[in-house]
Amino acid sequence: MIDKPFIGAHFSTAGGLQNAVFEAHDHNCNAVQIFTKNSRTWKEKYPTVDEINRFLSARKETRVHCVVSHASYLINLGAREEEKLEKSRSALKNELIRSGLLQISDIVLHPGSHMNKGEKTGIRTIVESIDTVFEKLEGTSVRLLLETTSGQGTNIGHRFEHLAEIIARSRFSKNMGACLDTCHIFTAGYDIRTDEAYEKTMNLFDNMVGIDRLRVIHLNDSRNELASRVDRHEHIGRGCIGDVAFRRFMTDPRLARIPKIIETPKRENKKAMDPVNLERLKELGSRSRSSVHSSQFFQ
Ligand SMILES: [Zn+2]
Repeated sequence: MIDKPFIGAHFSTAGGLQNAVFEAHDHNCNAVQIFTKNSRTWKEKYPTVDEINRFLSARKETRVHCVVSHASYLINLGAREEEKLEKSRSALKNELIRSGLLQISDIVLHPGSHMNKGEKTGIRTIVESIDTVFEKLEGTSVRLLLETTSGQGTNIGHRFEHLAEIIARSRFSKNMGACLDTCHIFTAGYDIRTDEAYEKTMNLFDNMVGIDRLRVIHLNDSRNELASRVDRHEHIGRGCIGDVAFRRFMTDPRLARIPKIIETPKRENKKAMDPVNLERLKELGSRSRSSVHSSQFFQ
């Protein structure tokens, strides 16, 4: 029997954290990604007991148990200036505390940027940052998932080696995992457009990072070409990546229990696009399951 896959989207928590859970449920999703606070400011916020209770009962009521947090975009664990580094470490610590209170076990984080210090130094600073933060939260079971990146600017994370090295060098590797974003790996230069390319890239990921470390997959098509190092998300099947890759991600038995989250554009003209993209994924996932000769049929 094939378990029902975890499918979801990043939904807004405007008006209360629980609203993202209800919105996921309304879209027939059993997974959701949220920001636990405004992701574009440094301002911290802790949920009150009431807010926590409302959030937890929404999860219970809707059975949307699979909730992932995405850390603030401002955090740079590889920052050069002491002040920015301190701010970033403190924001991550608060994110871990907040997620713990909300019973969220996984936080997606962009590893950081080296700010022209070079990848080696950048990675060393990131590892130091992660260790400093986890040292202060001894015993936490919340996991940090390093997300693959497109490699814009001086971003670390566009090579699978980067993620592998950070995880291996951290003293808290038991608290660490990975999040693979299809748009990011593609624009970073890992092809997934054909069955052969998909196999090659996923085997490489497995050898470098390990599929057992993979806890979340972001399914986004890409507006930009392979190896463009530009991160612009596109609707599923309508960008430079195309349907083959998404069918593979949806049907690969190694990924069956890993939550798959879309971060595709919310609207096109005035039309809400989450239902369209989610439906497309479900279709790609089920069509090939019911067809033995799917790979010949769809090529
Ligand atoms: Zn992503």
